[in-house]
This record gives sequence, C-alpha cells and structure tokens, in this order.
Amino acid sequence: MPADLHIHSTASDGRLTPGEIVKQAREAGLSAIALTDHDTVDGIQPALEAAGSSGPEVITGIEFNTELDGADIHILGYYLSLEGDLASTLAGLRAAREDRVKKIIDRLGQLRIRIDYDHVKRVAGRATMGRPHIARVLSETGYCASQGEAFERLLARGKPAYVPHHRLDPFMAIDTVLKAGGVPVLAHPGLAKRDELIPGFVARGLLGLEVFYPFHTPDDQARYQKICLQSGLIMTGGTDCHGPGFRYPPLGSVTVPDETVERLKQVVGHRASGCRRAPTARPATVD
Ligand code: AMP
Ligand code: FE
Ligand code: FE
Ligand code: ZN
Repeated sequence: MPADLHIHSTASDGRLTPGEIVKQAREAGLSAIALTDHDTVDGIQPALEAAGSSGPEVITGIEFNTELDGADIHILGYYLSLEGDLASTLAGLRAAREDRVKKIIDRLGQLRIRIDYDHVKRVAGRATMGRPHIARVLSETGYCASQGEAFERLLARGKPAYVPHHRLDPFMAIDTVLKAGGVPVLAHPGLAKRDELIPGFVARGLLGLEVFYPFHTPDDQARYQKICLQSGLIMTGGTDCHGPGFRYPPLGSVTVPDETVERLKQVVGHRASGCRRAPTARPATVD
C-alpha cells in the first residue's frame, strides 16, 4: 500500500484538520502518511489519536521553509523525536513568523491595503502563521478576488508586500532535523531549481530528495531519480496537499511505496541501535 509523505494540516497553513487527513488517508487506502506542517509538529498528536490502532501509520514530519542566496529552500524531516531542543527551536520560528506577518501587514498598509493583525491571527487560530493566512484575509476583505491572486499580485517573492523569512538557512534546518534524530530530505527541488546546492546539503547530512511531486516535470523527476541512485539518497514523494482552496492535488494522488517508508525507518533504527555505520549518502554529483 502506498504512502503520501507531504501533507499540511490546520496546524500550519492547510485547511484540513489532522483528524480529517487521517480519515481521508484511510479512505484512500494509504498505509502511511507524514504530516509535514511548516515549522511545527503540533498536528502530530491529534493525528496519532485519530489513527489509533487502525491506521494509517502517522509519521512525525515537518517542513522547514528556509532561504539561501535568494532561493526558497524547503527541508522536510521524518521520524523526528519530539523530545530535546526541538520545541524551543520551533517556538523561535513561531515568533519569527508572527513578526514577519506584522511586517507584511505594514507593507500592505503602505500600499493602502489595510488589514488587521488580529484578523490574520483569528484566521490562523493556533497554527503557525504564514502568507496563506494573510491571503485568506485579503480575499475575505475583498482586496483580492482569491488567495491565488493575493500571492500573484502582492505576497509572492518579488511582489510589493513580500518580506523574506530570516530565521533558518537550509543547513541549520538539516542540523535541526538530524539533532532531533530525524531524516532530512530536500523538498520539491524542482521548484527552487538550485541543483548546484545539493552536494553541499548532502555533505551536511541530507539523506533524501523529494523526487515525486505534483509540480515536477517528467524531466525533473528523471534528474532527481538519477541523483538519488548515484549518491544513495532516498527518493521520497507526496502531494503537498493543503486541503480545499489550494492549488495542490488531493491527498494520496502522489505516493511512494512502502519500501520508502522502510528505508526511512532503517536510518532511524540504525542510529537508535548505536550503529556507527548508520546509512549516509555518498557525495552527490550534479551534472
Ligand atoms: P510562508 O510559509 O508564509 O512563506 O508561505 C508559504 C506557503 O504559501 C506555501 O507553503 C504555500 O502553501 C503557499 N504559497 C506559496 N506560493 C504560493 C502561490 N503562488 N499561490 C498560492 N499559495 C502559495
Ligand atoms: Fe504551505
Ligand atoms: Fe514546500
Ligand atoms: Zn509543503
């Protein structure tokens, strides 16, 4: 049975609750799902409770939105341990996100687009705040026709209300995942198109590439498959499902086989058993 390893819930900017995601995954016949909310693991416990003993397996995941040399680089982490320093790192990121939302609202104000921080906060609830929540407020208040238009006209990189993330770079995100005992994977490399950075990430401890992704071209998929085979990286994949109202496809429409989940578990198991030869990737070469 297949697994979808890239899903967002209401713990970050998704529209489905962890419980709804588990239910849909069960209906879709998935054996495992990874909840990979932006900068938070708050959805994991409710998802585990919803899955109970009948499944699917809920993999503790995360997606760190980072930035390097003007590129948006997202790092996924799988099988993280929730003990240790992870919580304090995530609390710092949450505060940085709130600060960034305030800066974006100031920029919008300069453009005579007046929305309230409290309104965005209300829309986000207890989630880690992000641009999608601002986009929802912009469409609810009629400044934009849709969330997509809010990004295209105002919020996307290069648009007038864009404010960069400042907290983590991809190397720090890889370190954070490794320190939490997890498996770091480069999310949707075909979007950032910065393949020349991959060898440096692998040298830092990256163990996989997200090869199977809704917006990868057949060329992207073939290129990243080749890099994975050459350097012993794990090929992961998933939908990046954010629920209704987003451009991403429904949960379970992009999957990886159970063996991929087994490989992720092997890495974690080797480490937990104190094995000094825990799997690592070979130096990556990019043509
Ligand atoms: P943030 O974490 O605040 O930088 O927001 C990033 C999130 O915004 C992504 O994970 C997507 O969910 C969403 N997003 C990014 N670009 C677009 C876009 N062009 N249209 C709609 N949603 C987008
Ligand atoms: Fe998102
Ligand atoms: Fe992403
Ligand atoms: Zn994502």
